[in-house]
Amino acid sequence: MSVDRHDLDGRPVIIGGGIAGLMTALHLAPEPVVLLSRAPLGGEASSALAQGGLAAALGQDDDTAKHLADTLAAGDGLCDIEAARQIIREAPAAIAALGRFGARFDGADGGALRLGLEAAHGRHRIVHAGGDGTGREVMRALCAAIRLTPSITVVERVEALQLIVDDGRVVGVLVADKSGFSTLRTRRVVMATGGIGGLFVDTTNPLGNWGQGLALAARAGAELGDLEFIQFHPTAFDGPSRPMRLVSEAVRGEGAVLVDELGRRFLGHLPGAELAPRDRVARAVQQHIAAGHRVFLDARRRPGREFAARFPAIDAFCKAAGFDPSHDPIPIRPAVHYHMGGIATDLSGRSSVEGLWACGEVACTGLHGANRLASNSLTEAAVMAQRVAQDVAGAAGHAVRLVGVRTAPPLPDPTAVRPILSKALGVTRDGPRLEEAARALLGLVRAGTAAADPAAVGLMIAVAALSREESRGAHWRDDFPQTDPVARRSRLDLDTAIETARELSGNENAILARSA
Ligand SMILES: Cc1cc2nc3c(=O)[nH]c(=O)nc-3n(C[C@H](O)[C@H](O)[C@H](O)COP(=O)(O)OP(=O)(O)OC[C@H]3O[C@@H](n4cnc5c(N)ncnc54)[C@H](O)[C@@H]3O)c2cc1C
Repeated sequence: MSVDRHDLDGRPVIIGGGIAGLMTALHLAPEPVVLLSRAPLGGEASSALAQGGLAAALGQDDDTAKHLADTLAAGDGLCDIEAARQIIREAPAAIAALGRFGARFDGADGGALRLGLEAAHGRHRIVHAGGDGTGREVMRALCAAIRLTPSITVVERVEALQLIVDDGRVVGVLVADKSGFSTLRTRRVVMATGGIGGLFVDTTNPLGNWGQGLALAARAGAELGDLEFIQFHPTAFDGPSRPMRLVSEAVRGEGAVLVDELGRRFLGHLPGAELAPRDRVARAVQQHIAAGHRVFLDARRRPGREFAARFPAIDAFCKAAGFDPSHDPIPIRPAVHYHMGGIATDLSGRSSVEGLWACGEVACTGLHGANRLASNSLTEAAVMAQRVAQDVAGAAGHAVRLVGVRTAPPLPDPTAVRPILSKALGVTRDGPRLEEAARALLGLVRAGTAAADPAAVGLMIAVAALSREESRGAHWRDDFPQTDPVARRSRLDLDTAIETARELSGNENAILARSA
């Protein structure tokens, strides 16, 4: 049985302490809000790891139409054009808001911001801080602003375990901390729990980011969108530590090239080569590794001796691992990096469940389509945080009758799910591997153990990938290499995913019975 936290009754509850959660809380001030973070504030968030920056059309030679065109091209026919247009139009204002919250971007003191170039951007439009320390600086500023805002109650080291729903609408959140379970009564919950990399063996995400927000939303009945689209970063540092460290795309933007163990460049066939869209570079690197090669990022010539000054954080961890980027090629391999799919929302961040909003990587607004354009995600979180806050502030927050929670779910653990997803939902996929994964995941969901919620998220992704019998953006099917002439976004709920996996299991049992 859980304890009621009456002291916080009725306030909007924001789950997640990354850029999306922090900015939503700040934009809601002075309305009292509760911000839940599993880690101490600023910890265990992808936001703090961002090296590249935030994309916005700020250069003299740039405009929002060009930024939109690059976004739509990367999205491979699947972006929601209106969502993309509006988010991109509001990007410069969102970056200015970050500046007002205290973030100091490179070049700002001298007037114009210094703008970087990243893959598939036709212009220099990446706003960064401390060279490759953008996320660190943004989070430093936002955490400091949060601490100075009395209307925000921060509850750290607490994990949201379940949304409590009554008559189809959110009425509370069940949370766990070291002293046990408690419930918060609220009609307004903002999910800002980040991505899903923690469901995989090779990832750049904090391992706690395994899509818990997706599990909570799906179990509450929410519709999820475009789940099959997972971006692999082509150049994660190939060492033993997890999460894997990232060698930013900006390094290729500055002229570094991909080579194999013989020093040969192998991307010659790819239009744009090192600066082609991420999915293509990741597939080419994966194929080269599968063919028995090792792959390196060679920054010795460019940026060469400038490396340490331009990318101090990357330089430091490479050197700690025994590689000096200005003298040694850096070993790399692709790793799960970003989830384009998520809780399906409108442009106010509203989900299909009344009282549930989503913001940041856990949400799916349609901006990214089948493949995210580099550095569009921090921008999306910053823009959407303001929109979500406006909508939440305008929504009714009156008294709540809480439906009691008698049995709390087990504390989730994604360990058993990682090998299954890593095998079936990698850079390339095929029907037989996806079906096998769906059956295994269904078993874990049904068992109801600590793996059940991570398995439910994995199951939905596997079923979405199985249903998409084409290759598009980050979703590559070896058995369906063509792209359908008609683009369709995908929608899925948990019941449908379970039913689909059940049918697959039924078919297999029938085949086994026939062959016995
Ligand atoms: C290494 C790396 C580099 C990147 N570089 C860039 C870049 O340069 N530009 C760019 O645009 N994007 C970049 N990205 C992507 C971008 O950082 C993320 O998409 C973005 O930061 C997501 O922000 P968020 O607030 O949605 O989630 P996060 O920042 O991941 O925050 C999620 C928060 O939710 C908390 N949480 C999760 N589950 C629960 C729960 N059940 N209860 C309570 N709290 C919970 C977590 O502890 C965390 O505090 C990068 C990502 C990585 C991993």
